Amino acid sequence: MSVRDVIIVGGGPSGLSAAIAAKQRGLDYQVLEQGVLVNSIYRFPPQMVFFTTPELLEIGGLPFVSPYEKPTRAEALKYYRKVVDIYDLQIALEETVVSVSREHESGGSGESGWSDGSGGPGGSSGSGGSTGSGGSDRSGGSVGSGGENHVFVVETRSARGVRRVRHARNVVMAIGYYDHPVMIGVPGEDLPHVHHYYGEPHPHYRQRVVIVGGGNSAAESALEMFRAGAHVTIVHRAAALKSTIKYWVRPDIENRIKEGSIAARFGACVTAIRPTSVVLQECRDARAADGARAPAAGASRSRADGASAGLAEDRMDRERAEAGTSQPSGPEDGARVPGEGAREFRPSGPAEELPADAVYLLTGYRADADLLCRAGVALNDREAPVHDPETFETNVPRLFVAGGAIAGVDTGTIFIENGRFHGEKIVEVIARRG
Ligand SMILES: Cc1cc2nc3c(=O)[nH]c(=O)nc-3n(C[C@H](O)[C@H](O)[C@H](O)COP(=O)(O)OP(=O)(O)OC[C@H]3O[C@@H](n4cnc5c(N)ncnc54)[C@H](O)[C@@H]3O)c2cc1C
Repeated sequence: MSVRDVIIVGGGPSGLSAAIAAKQRGLDYQVLEQGVLVNSIYRFPPQMVFFTTPELLEIGGLPFVSPYEKPTRAEALKYYRKVVDIYDLQIALEETVVSVSREHESGGSGESGWSDGSGGPGGSSGSGGSTGSGGSDRSGGSVGSGGENHVFVVETRSARGVRRVRHARNVVMAIGYYDHPVMIGVPGEDLPHVHHYYGEPHPHYRQRVVIVGGGNSAAESALEMFRAGAHVTIVHRAAALKSTIKYWVRPDIENRIKEGSIAARFGACVTAIRPTSVVLQECRDARAADGARAPAAGASRSRADGASAGLAEDRMDRERAEAGTSQPSGPEDGARVPGEGAREFRPSGPAEELPADAVYLLTGYRADADLLCRAGVALNDREAPVHDPETFETNVPRLFVAGGAIAGVDTGTIFIENGRFHGEKIVEVIARRG
């Protein structure tokens, strides 16, 4: 049977940097990507501008040249395409990993070719089936040391529904978190006019749009849609927008709220979404709402220039809230009091019903814990995979995590800036063990 040294799940910046390291060390590697190259970045809003300067997005030592201080999504897509071409990386696109399980080397069944969709030989059904420690136990577990004599069985499904089974001695899960929006868990969340990803403002010309969230996603999409002729209301659980809003976005959004061009409801929770409206209620503890774990919790970020759009919860806010010190002190946080256009939620009755033609729930994202758990990886109380912080090996020996996938609920702690270095460390460990 053909057994690769390493299979890397995910063709984002973290997976690609792991692949570059593997290639440089002469390992037999394969990247499996469910979508297009750097699929998460591809799905960001088309006009999106990174908060990071170009050199911090670089991988494989290749310069990212941009005329701007902060590069655009389009430039990033071009850059990562170029990187893959220059290193001639081996990537299977549009091939989703549906399960990762283990079998002892002697019991292997070989790497199958494409099959008819009925499931590959020796592969698990996709419903779990990991052997060995961990299981779906979320209570933790010891981190692996690479000693076990097993191979990984990686079952995949192509975009056209064709299944395949691949084998490897090591697996790197670099799956990010952008595919799994945090659901707020209210009736109507699945209605067709409710979105968890923002794209273009144009469809909302002359529409009434409710945006739920208080981070960059909410602020930037609100401004874009307002300027494209939409009637926008921001609804946020906390008493003010997040401290992590990009410094160049903050004055704009605050002034639009202040002058009433964009409406806002702070300290308000969505309790239901109806076909043409959104029902709100006062949040019990608006100050701590940013820090509450669920349901609309999201990511964190400690840099002064703010978290990325799409990251919903700020860790600093949470820590402040938990410590009861939610009024921040830095200059960046100086204007946190809602403007005159905003209002703290004071329900005139039991609830307020806002008319809405479209609803954006921009409340953050999470890594696919299910895939990790089914592979036997234990999660900690922050829903992050238990792993050795030096080697990134999980409790499943020779199964590693990299990039956004390690974050659990704290998605705002991992960025391209730091996740791009995980792969090198992992590959170093794999190469050393031989
Ligand atoms: C709107 C937005 C703006 C951001 N701006 C910045 C910024 O300015 N600077 C910065 O440093 N960070 C920024 N971030 C964070 C950054 O995008 C992430 O930290 C980064 O993408 C993580 O890289 P990754 O490779 O770990 O994950 P991703 O880039 O998410 O890549 C994971 C890949 O795995 C694939 N995948 C997932 N599951 C499977 C599966 N089962 N099988 C096969 N493939 C799979 C996905 O399709 C995806 O391509 C931003 C995030 C958002 C949402």
